[in-house]
Amino acid sequence: MNLLQKILLIEIWKGLFLTLKKMLFERFVTIQYPEKDKVIPAPGFRGRHALVRDPNTGDTLCIACMRCVRVCPSQCIKVEYEVDKETNKRRVVKYEIEALRCVYCGYCEEVCPVNAIVLTEFFEYVGFTRDEVFFTKEKLLANWDEFIAKAKRPYLNPFWKPRGIPEKFLPVRKRNFTGV
Ligand code: SF4
Ligand code: SF4
Repeated sequence: MNLLQKILLIEIWKGLFLTLKKMLFERFVTIQYPEKDKVIPAPGFRGRHALVRDPNTGDTLCIACMRCVRVCPSQCIKVEYEVDKETNKRRVVKYEIEALRCVYCGYCEEVCPVNAIVLTEFFEYVGFTRDEVFFTKEKLLANWDEFIAKAKRPYLNPFWKPRGIPEKFLPVRKRNFTGV
């Protein structure tokens, strides 16, 4: 760089010109998050866990088959149940997911025979403590309530289809947000 270029600050002017050109004539590649331009995840995005609430009982659809517990590679799902002596059916008393250990593989929702556990498209969740991302049954049901209240389209996981189960037996996959 010669002396004249140094005196006239040529390199600085070049930089300023480049900045102005980018600002005035080129499309922004960044977005004003979270104020606007929120990203809409692709269908089937695996986000925050939720237990689908049965609109008839108000409780979870889970039948405590324990498949999700067995399949989870992170072993972060814990389910406890009791057996109804009259009907001999299982009733979930505890359902917990330690989300910090989850790898969002989706195996739990894939293996669930009644579509009780889902990974919603909701991705904006953080916490300052472990407890805030430790999901109990009540939190998981509330997660579903919040998801269906805020989501802009019906829950649909296009990649989810258990083998051997006809389409007409997939109630939740087709269910809309009102749970009807
Ligand atoms: S998404 Fe995978 S790692 Fe996470 S809870 Fe489900 S099975 Fe476990
Ligand atoms: S969430 Fe589904 S796979 Fe897991 S225990 Fe309940 S019914 Fe079984």
